[in-house]
Amino acid sequence: MANFNTHLNVAFMVSGTMSLTVYKAGLLNDSGFLVCVALGTIGGLLPDLDSDNSTPIKLGFNITSFIFAFGLVMHWRSELSLLSLMALWLAGYGFMRYVVFYVFTNMTVHRGVIHSVPYMAILGLGLTYLNYFVLQLPLTTSWFYGLFLFGGAMVHLTLDELYSVNLSNMKMKRSSGTAMKFYQHDDKWWYCLLYIILLLLLYVAPPFEPFWQQLRDPAPWAQLKVGILPDMIESMRR
Ligand SMILES: [Zn+2]
Repeated sequence: MANFNTHLNVAFMVSGTMSLTVYKAGLLNDSGFLVCVALGTIGGLLPDLDSDNSTPIKLGFNITSFIFAFGLVMHWRSELSLLSLMALWLAGYGFMRYVVFYVFTNMTVHRGVIHSVPYMAILGLGLTYLNYFVLQLPLTTSWFYGLFLFGGAMVHLTLDELYSVNLSNMKMKRSSGTAMKFYQHDDKWWYCLLYIILLLLLYVAPPFEPFWQQLRDPAPWAQLKVGILPDMIESMRR
């Protein structure tokens, strides 16, 4: 397993480079660029979060619950009366803070479950969903935020995998399996739940096709090619 510093540095370097590339291609604005670097770095630390250091998770959940409840109220502000809006606010907050949080903290007790590909995919997709539907950010930005969080987490799992192969040169204990986990029989019910949540999220996710089209559009990447060399060299070549 790679240590905290390795995870922090590699996740920061990878998400910094990727984010800069996308920014230079004109697909992200200034703040989007910074948020992507931050999300990629956070993603690189997420899989090792467990119930032992639950303070950042708790804080994160309080904020998420608050934003979620606020988003609900904003969404229905013109249709509902003041009293129903207050009830909706409380219900939304309570649901996220106590029901969803309860399920997630129980998962983090099972360390292997949070340290897995489907769990991180849920977090990434959930973030995209929240950004697009609740915070009403542009589609491209929403997808990039989710993908950077997920990408950072995949960097983490890949690093753990590389380290476990290099250092021990043989499989670790059978119970711990590989770092890049998709499923583990011991936690089969948790994994069932994870994949059900993932399928639901995929079903309600913001449209992916327009985002993909934008990524495949050659124009921004052509602009990137011009931007790779400093202006001076560029003008000398002319
Ligand atoms: Zn790890």
